[in-house]
Amino acid sequence: MRIVLLGAPGSGKGTQAKILVKKQGIPHISTGDLLRSAIAAKSKLGLAAKQVMDRGDLVSDEIVLGMLKERLSETDAQKGFILDGFPRNLVQAEMLSELFAELGLSLDHALLIEVDPDEVVARIAKRAEIEGRSDDTEEVVRNRLQVYKEQTAPVADYYKEQNIVSEIMGAGTIEDVQKRIEAVLRF
Ligand code: AMP
Repeated sequence: MRIVLLGAPGSGKGTQAKILVKKQGIPHISTGDLLRSAIAAKSKLGLAAKQVMDRGDLVSDEIVLGMLKERLSETDAQKGFILDGFPRNLVQAEMLSELFAELGLSLDHALLIEVDPDEVVARIAKRAEIEGRSDDTEEVVRNRLQVYKEQTAPVADYYKEQNIVSEIMGAGTIEDVQKRIEAVLRF
């Protein structure tokens, strides 16, 4: 099964992806995590990406696609995956469609987790306390939400045209959201 998770920063995509990994037995591929690993490894690419990420802007499409292609070629991704954080704009959505066409793959589901913007800000503030991510400060979060609205939200419409979007209410507990996702994946 190949799934794309869509939703604003703080909508719970990462949390839900981790649960899905256990239930579906497919890997969670997060482009944000791939970038944070590159930063931790102090690679040239990581250092360049860090400046962009610390502002809350998007890293270049080519860099992210390159990392993603490499990750998708690994053995564990052959049986499917949960993609989190990609595509982040329409260009990336088209790049992914082209890549899938080359590989003879198709996307099964695009899950759009919908959360109230006030709730998102509160959740990120909580995550900032726990994880200490350098892009979870108030000013940067505001920019990330703006980037989401302008560049990422249209990706949901792109997949709606392909009839593969399921809207998931992101309110409630982690378990509540997880049950809603499971109900969708059963079909
Ligand atoms: P995330 O962990 O998905 O919230 O991503 C954290 C940051 O990594 C984002 O604010 C972007 O700067 C960068 N990033 C993650 N995924 C992408 C992507 N697909 N395209 C461009 N930048 C990305």
